[in-house]
Amino acid sequence: MPLKTGKAYIESLKSLNLKTNIMGEQKDRLTGNSLISPSQKAVAFTFDAACSPDTQELFCAESSLFNDVVNRFSHLHLSTEDLINKVKMQRYCGVKTACCFQRCVGLDAANAIFSTTFECDKKHGTQYHERFKDYWKWIQKEDMVVDGAMTDPKGDRGKRPTDQVDPDLYLRIKERKPGGIVISGAKIHQTGMLNSHEILVMPTITMRKGEEAWAVCCAVPTDAKGIKYIYGRQASDTRKLEENAMDIGNPTFGGQEVMTIFDDVFVPSERIFMDGEIDFSGILVERFASYHRQSYGGCKAGVGDALIGATALIAKMNGVENASHIKDKIVEMIHLNETIYACGIACSATGEKTLSGNYLVNLLLANVCKLNVTRFPYELARLATDIAGGLLGTMPFAVDLEDPVTGPYIKKYLAANPDYNTVDRMKVFRLIENLVAGSGAVGYLIESMHGAGPPAAQRIMIGRQALLEDKIDQIKLLLDIQ
Ligand code: SF4
Ligand code: FE
Repeated sequence: MPLKTGKAYIESLKSLNLKTNIMGEQKDRLTGNSLISPSQKAVAFTFDAACSPDTQELFCAESSLFNDVVNRFSHLHLSTEDLINKVKMQRYCGVKTACCFQRCVGLDAANAIFSTTFECDKKHGTQYHERFKDYWKWIQKEDMVVDGAMTDPKGDRGKRPTDQVDPDLYLRIKERKPGGIVISGAKIHQTGMLNSHEILVMPTITMRKGEEAWAVCCAVPTDAKGIKYIYGRQASDTRKLEENAMDIGNPTFGGQEVMTIFDDVFVPSERIFMDGEIDFSGILVERFASYHRQSYGGCKAGVGDALIGATALIAKMNGVENASHIKDKIVEMIHLNETIYACGIACSATGEKTLSGNYLVNLLLANVCKLNVTRFPYELARLATDIAGGLLGTMPFAVDLEDPVTGPYIKKYLAANPDYNTVDRMKVFRLIENLVAGSGAVGYLIESMHGAGPPAAQRIMIGRQALLEDKIDQIKLLLDIQ
């Protein structure tokens, strides 16, 4: 059975020749790095859950490519039930890790590329689909982590790729060599890139005639020659370097964002899945984005559960859990969070089979799901901040608890409900702070706004998918208007 444990996954990262610039230095031994390892533990969680008898059923699926069970994080969805289970699995990971666990991007890219290559081959007589199937079989058998790389830097937003002062501002095919292509450019906001074995590169927008060099989809190893990484900064990230871990907020897990440079990277032909077919670039972008917008219906609801749990607990610790306005605000948080999840489930349950055989989410509902995610986590964060109180922003350093003079004062004056330990109360404050204003807010808030595209992108898709003319026709019919 091709299922790695979390430990084996972290070991497998060591065999990759990965280096990154981080805090002004180039680092290579990334698995032992305190800034990076919380993000690796979050990915490792997705492996352990597939090996645990309690969660195996949700985290494993029968592969469609060979006769065995694979981790659902690399599964090609074969039914609407698979789509629903993906969202349930993501919600479970979200509450358990209280962060972005990073492994969904490759899953969403694979499912989008699977159907797009099938349709492209049918129209253009290309050979991408079988090639991709061979590639993905290898990924599933080796239980690898794949990052999906879509977002180009985009330079001057008012200009097309061909009109930019620097053609690399959109990743492109720079050169052709015997047996492959050379790509040049960058992908920014790369979630979990340095915790991945492979990268699936995709175009970032619908390409037009004359932009064939930018219509490229391919796979490369994360340690391919020419790839360079610059680690992304997150609020309060250097707390991970402090000896007393309490101030980090999330004691075990964290997210990861990386800027990835493709400095003339060679891609062999067997790893190319789109090479100039501009008419399929937009389809691929739309499908990947919609799968990832569905994903947020799971992961953000899961992290929302963690925030609601922490908020309800701090209310008890503060001694205010019975106040009617507190109860009401917690119900409001639950309502918003379940609305996010409901959309994730709805776009999955009404998904449809593609020509290639895998299942695609309902595009309209997936976009509604993500548009809600651009708003509701912010409201949840506001309510959590309201309920928790001002200590969220003013609490002393955890190390001052160890000081013989200040420690006793902190414990004396931060004591609240006597049923709870004061230091435990401080831990809960720090977790809420992590999610609403610390490094966890990258995954829970900023990513909720911009990950899988900003709200304007969802509005465009909603406008396109809503069949407005049909609704107008219904009214004409009802009122007998010609
Ligand atoms: Fe997965 Fe959510 Fe992170 Fe995207 S933001 S990789 S869907 S956990
Ligand atoms: Fe994301």
